[in-house]
Order: sequence, then structure tokens, then C-alpha cells
Amino acid sequence: MQLKRRFILSIFLSLSISTLLSASPEIRKITPPRLESAYLGENVLCHRPLRKGGPRLEVEESEGKILGHVYGHSGSGWTLGPGSAKYVVGLVEEKMAAKNMTKEEPITIIGAGVMGLMSALELIDHGYKNVKIVAASFDNLTSHKAGGQFAPVYMGNDPSLQPLMDQIGVDSYNCYKKIIEGKHKYLKRGATLITDYFENLEDFGLEPYVAAGAMQPSKEVILDFQNGTMRKMYAYDDCIFMDVITLMQDLRAVLEKAGVAFIPRQIESFAEIDDGVVLNCCGLGSMTLAKDSNMISVQGHLILLKDQNPADITYMVELYMGKSQTSTGLDCLDAFYIFPKRLPGTHSNDIGVIGGSYIENADVTTPHLEQFQRVVQNAKIFYGIKE
Ligand SMILES: Cc1cc2nc3c(=O)[nH]c(=O)nc-3n(C[C@H](O)[C@H](O)[C@H](O)COP(=O)(O)OP(=O)(O)OC[C@H]3O[C@@H](n4cnc5c(N)ncnc54)[C@H](O)[C@@H]3O)c2cc1C
Repeated sequence: MQLKRRFILSIFLSLSISTLLSASPEIRKITPPRLESAYLGENVLCHRPLRKGGPRLEVEESEGKILGHVYGHSGSGWTLGPGSAKYVVGLVEEKMAAKNMTKEEPITIIGAGVMGLMSALELIDHGYKNVKIVAASFDNLTSHKAGGQFAPVYMGNDPSLQPLMDQIGVDSYNCYKKIIEGKHKYLKRGATLITDYFENLEDFGLEPYVAAGAMQPSKEVILDFQNGTMRKMYAYDDCIFMDVITLMQDLRAVLEKAGVAFIPRQIESFAEIDDGVVLNCCGLGSMTLAKDSNMISVQGHLILLKDQNPADITYMVELYMGKSQTSTGLDCLDAFYIFPKRLPGTHSNDIGVIGGSYIENADVTTPHLEQFQRVVQNAKIFYGIKE
């Protein structure tokens, strides 16, 4: 009898211990990056094209032309680029079909950032033979400077637009997943499946992707920085890091091979374009070109890291750290993020980018260089690194 009671007690104890263990979050050890000044590389100032109400993804007929718009994606242009291009090219094709236009129709894309290149790729994939990209600049664009995290962050979407944004985001996720799995028709590199850590799930917009079955649910984990600091975070283990410079290079190579012309030219008015189909992919340039008063510039600050141990920077993090005021009196949302970005041609240890700030209505005339200092301070606070 006593033996039986002891047996039942031991089952009860082992069950409670295993329940307790399974309920407590997994602990993941992370070695913080080196953040002393010797390990900090280039400072990068960059401006997000935010459109209040949400990105402009629509087609109109203007002065006898079919005019598509693909701009205003703020901090999520790479996240939403492939899906946005697919969506707007679909709308353009409906208008073209109504006018009996063929695949030979000359089409001009204005802008050579992620929106312009992804839109051109979509057109080429659909068999269009006469596509050109006209842009004021092809180099060192916002699309090259972006960090590379897949997450729909810092947008000004009207709630009514959110279901469409989520559908576009899922399409984009599936596009990058195809690259990772070697199944993309044109792009063979530039996307990696890695873990992304967030402090809460609401601000970073990936839950609809889980609900749609594209991503796995997040896990609650404890990050142990092995210096006495631990943080409870949520991990999406199937998030995507986009190597934006490689993607820009490969997109251009694919498009050139397909016969797309790249023409350097500043456009002052859509009337300057002779072609009957035009796609406006101008990012912040749409403020003036499309006379869009809903467009604002959101300044960001990034610092490239160097001489790191690559094994220490194999994940992404983003969390908001509070609000502050800039020296020019603008509101700033302070964030900390880190992604494993690397510039081509650099040493394999020169890996990692930290950021960032979100300063609405700040542009190149107000660089707020003091923010670079803040980025480092916030990184040290996150990892619990004493000065
Ligand atoms: C600090 C920072 C970090 C970011 N990190 C991420 C991230 O991790 N993940 C993510 O998804 N997104 C990120 N983004 C956002 C992303 O970089 C942008 O949303 C995206 O690059 C915008 O692409 P675009 O093609 O619309 O514009 P751009 O890349 O700015 O390209 C615009 C093009 O239009 C041309 N153009 C403009 N006006 C004219 C004109 N009048 N005539 C001719 N050509 C014109 C330009 O020359 C250029 O070729 C980040 C942005 C910043 C600032």
C-alpha cells in the first residue's frame, strides 16, 4: 500500500516538475556584440518614405496614360515590396486589358529602388517586352541603406487598409521563402531564415502572418546576455533577413538580362513620359512628382558594426525604447534594432547594423547627428553593457 502511495506521489512530482519546466520560457544565451568605438563602422543617415493613411497602391488614368502608384511604405519597403509590386501590376494589367494593350506596350517605371525593381521583375515575369526604368539615381538609395528585417513596422495605415497590407505582406514573405528554398524563378540569394526577437507582438505586425499560416507562432523566451542581464522577449524563429544590397544587385542583373533599359533622368512631371503606361515608384520623390501632401520623411540612423564575431550576430531584434525630442524640437521614437547586415567586399567579421530612430518630418537638412550616440547608448542599455 505504502509502495503504491509512493509510486503515485513520484508520478505526481515528476508531472508537476515537467509541467513547470514546459511552462517556463526557454533560455537562449546570446553574446552581445562589441560596441566600443573601435568596433563601430560607418554612420548611415536614411529617410523612410511614409504615407499617412498607408502606401499608395492604386492605378489611375491621367492625361490619356495608365498611371500606377507604388510608394509610401515607410520602414517596411523591403518587407512589402514583392507583394506590393504584384498587387499594383495586377491592377495595371486590368486597365491595359480594357484598352486592348499587348505585352509589347512600352512601359516606363520611374524609380529604381525596391519598388521600381520589384515592379519591373513582375512585368518581365508576366511577359512584358518593352520595360524601362528611369530614375534620378540608381546608387546609394534608401533601398540600399535599409537594415533588412522582414517586419511591417512604423507605417501609418488606416485600419481599413490593414487586411490588404497583411495579404501583401504574406505574398512578400512567400516570395522571400522561395528564394531561401531555391525555388524563386529569378533570385537565388539575398534572403535568410533567422530568428527575430520582439518585446511585444502588437507593434511589429507579424501575427496576421501567423494567422494566415505563413509563419509559425512566436515563442516566449528569455535572452541571457551572460553578463547578469536577461530579457523576456518573443521569438519568431522563421523570420527573414533580407540582404538588400545583394538583392538590389541581383534584381538589376536579372532585369538587364531580360532587356530592361536603365535610364538616368530626373522627372519633373508625368507628362514628360511618352509611354502610355507609367508606374510611379519614386518613394519620397512622390511628395513633389505626385504632389502628395500625405507623404512625409521619417529619419533613421544606422551604425554598421565591424570586427565582430559573426557567430554572435545570427539573429535580429527590434524594440521601442521610448520617446524623446531632437535638438530641432521634433518628436523622436527611439528604438533599438540589430540585424546581420554586411556590405559587399568587406571582411567577413564586418557584420551587423544597429539602429535606430524614427523622426517624422526630418530630412537631410536636419541630420540630427547626435542620434548616432543615442543608438549606441540604447544598444548598451538593451544588452546591459556598463559604460
Ligand atoms: C533607417 C532605415 C532602415 C530601414 N530598414 C528596413 C528594414 O529593415 N526592412 C524593411 O522592410 N524596410 C526598411 N526600411 C524601409 C525601406 O528602406 C524603404 O521603405 C524602401 O527602401 C523604399 O523603397 P522605394 O523604392 O519606395 O524608394 P527608394 O529606395 O528611395 O527609391 C526611390 C527611387 O525613385 C527615384 N526618384 C525619386 N524621385 C524621382 C524623380 N522625380 N524623377 C526620377 N526618379 C526619381 C530615386 O532616384 C530612386 O531611384 C528602412 C528605411 C530606413 C530609412
